[in-house]
Amino acid sequence: MKTYRLVSYPHPALRKKAQPVTEITDEIQHLIQEMLRIMYEGNGESTGIGLAANQVNSLHRVIVMDTPQYRDENAPMEKRIMINPEIVWASEEMMDCHEGCLSVPHVSGGPVPRHARIRVKYMDEHGKTHEEEADQLFANCIQHEIDHLNGVMYFDYLPKGKRMSFMRKYEKAQREEKKAGN
Ligand SMILES: [Zn+2]
Repeated sequence: MKTYRLVSYPHPALRKKAQPVTEITDEIQHLIQEMLRIMYEGNGESTGIGLAANQVNSLHRVIVMDTPQYRDENAPMEKRIMINPEIVWASEEMMDCHEGCLSVPHVSGGPVPRHARIRVKYMDEHGKTHEEEADQLFANCIQHEIDHLNGVMYFDYLPKGKRMSFMRKYEKAQREEKKAGN
């Protein structure tokens, strides 16, 4: 089966809307395994805590997450596979987040306004439906990944001046990476 690869901004898949999964086929199971592999592998400078299908050039509504030390620092990592995730409730209370993205290497930025608490409905890889509440980093990560499925990038939220300096910094990092032959 196909080997997937992480794509970097401005790859066109990152601006497309992913489509709902209607059946969990072998192809979808393979995509999930590939996404987990790529998330844990990261982009050479950091490993990921979340990944959306658009980031591996696939347009299925699938996200994977493994948010470290959520709620309880002694708890195991919080691994999630979410198919067709949907935010069914969001708090009015917002939080300012500082974010990074495997598809936007070398840079990070904020403030990105996110709902402080959300309830998300999704299907797992066995086709079972779940609804769960999230806050803190977990809620932040879910909102970031669902945005990817809709073609939205976290830097879209930055105030204009900050966004322009963010893009200049990113483009410079991309040029330097090219020069280094990566
Ligand atoms: Zn991302």
